[in-house]
Amino acid sequence: MANNTPITVAHGDGIGPEIMAASLHIIQEAGARVDIEQIEIGEKVYLSGNSAGIEPSAWESLRRTRVFFKAPITTPQGGGFKSLNVTTRKMLGLYANVRPCVAYHPYVDTKHPRMDVVIVRENEEDLYAGIEYRQTAQVMQSIKLISRPGTERIVRYAFEYARRNNRKKVTCFTKDNIMKLSDGLFHKIFDEIAAEYPDLVNEHWIVDIGAAKLADTPEAFDVVVMPNLYGDILSDVAAQIAGSVGLAGSSNIGTNYAMFEAIHGSAPRRAGQNLANPSGLLLGGVMMLVHINQADIAERVHNAWLKTIEDGIHTYDIYVEGVSRQKVGTREFAQAVVARLGQAPEKLKAARYERDASDLKGLSVQPALKKDLVGVDLFLDWDSGTGDDLAAALARVNGDGLKLQMLSNRGVKIWPNGFPDTFTSDQWRCRFMGDGNVSHAQVAALLSRVAEAGLDFIKTENLCNFDGKPGYSLSQGE
Ligand code: NAD
Repeated sequence: MANNTPITVAHGDGIGPEIMAASLHIIQEAGARVDIEQIEIGEKVYLSGNSAGIEPSAWESLRRTRVFFKAPITTPQGGGFKSLNVTTRKMLGLYANVRPCVAYHPYVDTKHPRMDVVIVRENEEDLYAGIEYRQTAQVMQSIKLISRPGTERIVRYAFEYARRNNRKKVTCFTKDNIMKLSDGLFHKIFDEIAAEYPDLVNEHWIVDIGAAKLADTPEAFDVVVMPNLYGDILSDVAAQIAGSVGLAGSSNIGTNYAMFEAIHGSAPRRAGQNLANPSGLLLGGVMMLVHINQADIAERVHNAWLKTIEDGIHTYDIYVEGVSRQKVGTREFAQAVVARLGQAPEKLKAARYERDASDLKGLSVQPALKKDLVGVDLFLDWDSGTGDDLAAALARVNGDGLKLQMLSNRGVKIWPNGFPDTFTSDQWRCRFMGDGNVSHAQVAALLSRVAEAGLDFIKTENLCNFDGKPGYSLSQGE
C-alpha cells in the first residue's frame, strides 16, 4: 500500500510471540500505516549455532526498514552467546535509550502515585565502550570514555524529547565532582545545550544524591539524562518504583536506525498460556508510531490502552481484587483495547504526541584547539619496594628534557612527600614533565631508557594542554 512505512518485526521467544501478536493486532486495528517484514532472532537462531542470535538476512531487513519492533528473546544459558541487545545497539548506532516510567495510580499499585519520569540514557559510550585491560597481576582497568559528539547527541535528544512531549524540565546526573574531565564534559555540554532551550527548566544533580532523590521522590523529576552506567542502573530503579516493570516500553534511537521493545524479558514460564501482559511491548510500539510520524495513531492506541487500564481490565500481573474489574488473558486484553480505540482516559492523563525527536540538528562545530604535549604518564608493573625506591630507580632515566615529577599509586600521590602508610598495588603511574613542549621522539626515547633500566612499562598516556589548560587529572595529594 502506498505511504505505508516498512518495519522489521521479531516475534521473539517465550511470551514474545503472544504479546507481539496482541500488540500488532491493536496497532493495525488503530490504523497504523505499516508494512511488516518478519525476521527470526533469538533462541532458535542461537541454538542453530549462530552465536550472535541473528541471521545476515535479518540485518538486510533492518538496513532496509531502519525500524525494528522487537519482542523479548531468550538468551540460552551457558557461555558463548552474545547479547543480541548489545549487538543491535552497537551495530545500528542506537545512542539513546529512552524509558518512560509512569505510575498508573490508583489502577496499578505503586508507592509513587504521581511519578511520571522519562530516563534518557546514553547508550554507546562511558564504561560500556568495553575497553578493558589486565595491566598487572593485581590491577584490571576499564576505560570510561565520554566524547563531545556522543554527549551532544544524547543531551540534545533529551531536550528535544522534552520539548516535543510537553515536558517542563530536564535534569542531568553526573559525578563530575570526582570525574572532572569525563563527567565534567557531560555536565558542561548539558549546560551549553540547556542554554538553547530557555523554555525548559534545567538542573544538574550529583548522581549519588540525585539517585537517592529519584528513588524517594520521583515526582520531583521529569526528563532525566545520564551517561551510560548511571542510566543503566537508574532506568531499572525508575521502572521498578513506578510499579510497572511489565508495563514499560522503551526506544533505542540512533541517527539512522531505531529499535522499540518492552523492558521486560521473555518470561519463559508464562509462555503459551495466554497470560502475559502485552502492555510493555504495546507502549514500545506507541513510541515506534511516533518515530515513524504516525503520532495520530500513537495517540489513539495509547489513549485506548489507558482507558482499558482505567476500566480495570487487567492481566494477572497487575490484577488486584477490589481495584481491578476483570482478569483477562493476553488476547482478551488486546480485544478490550481495540474496543476502546477512539476513547480517552477519564482520570489518567491522556497521551498527546507531536513529532519524534530524532531529527536533531547537527553537532556543534568546535574551534580548533591548540594542543601541546607537555609530559607523559608512564604506567609500570612494579612490586619491588617503596615509592622512594622506585623514584631512585627512575632517577637514572631522567634526562633529554623529561624529568620525573610525581609517582602515584591507585591515583594517590606516593612520591615526593607521600604519606608513608598509603597502601600501594603493583601498578604505578610515573609522571614525567618536560621543560617546555615535549616531542613524540622524547617520549619514545624515555621508553627506551626505561626498558634498558629493566622496568616493565605497561602503557603511557600523553599529557597535553588544550589551549593552555591541562587535559589530565592531578593525583590525590598532588
Ligand atoms: P523476565 O522479565 O522475562 O521475567 C521476570 C518476571 O516478570 C517473571 O516472573 C515473569 O513472569 C514476569 N513478567 C515479565 N514480563 C511479563 C509480562 N509481559 N506479563 C506478565 N508477567 C511478566 O526476566 P527473566 O525471567 O530474568 O528473563 C527471562 C529471559 O528473558 C532470559 O532469557 C533473559 O535473557 C531474557 N531477557 C530478554 C530481554 C530482551 O529481549 N529485551 C530483556 C530481559 C531479559
